[in-house]
Amino acid sequence: MKMLENETELIRSGIKPPFKITPHWESLLNGRLDDPLRIQVVPSLQEKLRDKAERDDPLGELSHSPLPRLIRRYRDRALVVATGRCALYCRHCFRRRISGDSDISRDQIQNIAQWLGANRDVMELIISGGDPLMLPHKALLYLMDECRRFRPDIVLRLATRIPIVDPARISRRFIAALGRRRPLWMLIQTNHPRELSAASLRFFGQIQRCGIPMLNQSVLLKGVNDDVNILEKLCRDLVAAGVKPLYLFQGDLAEGTAHFRLPLEEARQLVDNLRSRLGGLAMPNFAVDLPDGGGKVPLAPNHILSDDEHGWLLRTPDGVEGYYPKEG
Ligand SMILES: *Cc1c(COP(=O)(O)O)cnc(C)c1O
Ligand code: SF4
Repeated sequence: MKMLENETELIRSGIKPPFKITPHWESLLNGRLDDPLRIQVVPSLQEKLRDKAERDDPLGELSHSPLPRLIRRYRDRALVVATGRCALYCRHCFRRRISGDSDISRDQIQNIAQWLGANRDVMELIISGGDPLMLPHKALLYLMDECRRFRPDIVLRLATRIPIVDPARISRRFIAALGRRRPLWMLIQTNHPRELSAASLRFFGQIQRCGIPMLNQSVLLKGVNDDVNILEKLCRDLVAAGVKPLYLFQGDLAEGTAHFRLPLEEARQLVDNLRSRLGGLAMPNFAVDLPDGGGKVPLAPNHILSDDEHGWLLRTPDGVEGYYPKEG
């Protein structure tokens, strides 16, 4: 891949997250400097700019951490940071403060397993990172099994970008081992339709045949997918591949990511436009994470135009108006 001089300089200077790319991702590039896939992984001088709204820990995760590597922002869901490592590092990553950090230890896993046993209102554990599929596969299965030790009922959600950035990394045997650990959901991150390569689609098929449902989250990124036609194609291609688009996120206020963010009002208009084109299966929830850890806020439009004593005047996303009566 051709690099500009200032990019090479940034990489040499030890920028965080470090520059890292997979041969698979490199094979998807189109050779242009403004390639939406290239700009997701190659460091840019714009990362040196700091906005005063940006923070090191944009979601306030450190203050919602009852144990090392465990984040609990909701009563019923918790998230474990299995590692800081990823197959490639996304320049827009909001957990960039931990990029490259070590894997979870056996002791930390034991402590989390005990904690889950004592916190029975937690019904779902999200295994995230970094990318949990970077763990040695035995270590990841150990993590899953230990977390079920006192909580055989817990639902697991594996959040990973490996199926998109390095699909050949995962063996059929390992996929079968995941299939024996249901209820398990797989949440991937895809931001541009060109990321859905033939190898990734084959991988999705294997995962789905093991009974693991797949979901996708995307980040709204300037120069990557801030275009309604691209977002529409991405969502339709995901649905065709059996993957439900779950979230489209407004960029978080992570340091050095301002060049990727759209003003929220512009983002809303883009998403409203998308909503007028897609049905419920293909349309992701547009959400923004509150800085300092409040949680995700879905930014849905208000479809109620007015109401009176007889009922409500409503409007569908594609503009049809209708009256829904009050009863009694
Ligand atoms: C996103 C997130 C969740 C999951 O929230 P959902 O609404 O179920 O997707 C849970 N915990 C943390 C810390 C999160 O960031
Ligand atoms: S794969 Fe996820 S955790 Fe890793 S760099 Fe990309 S966004 Fe961050």
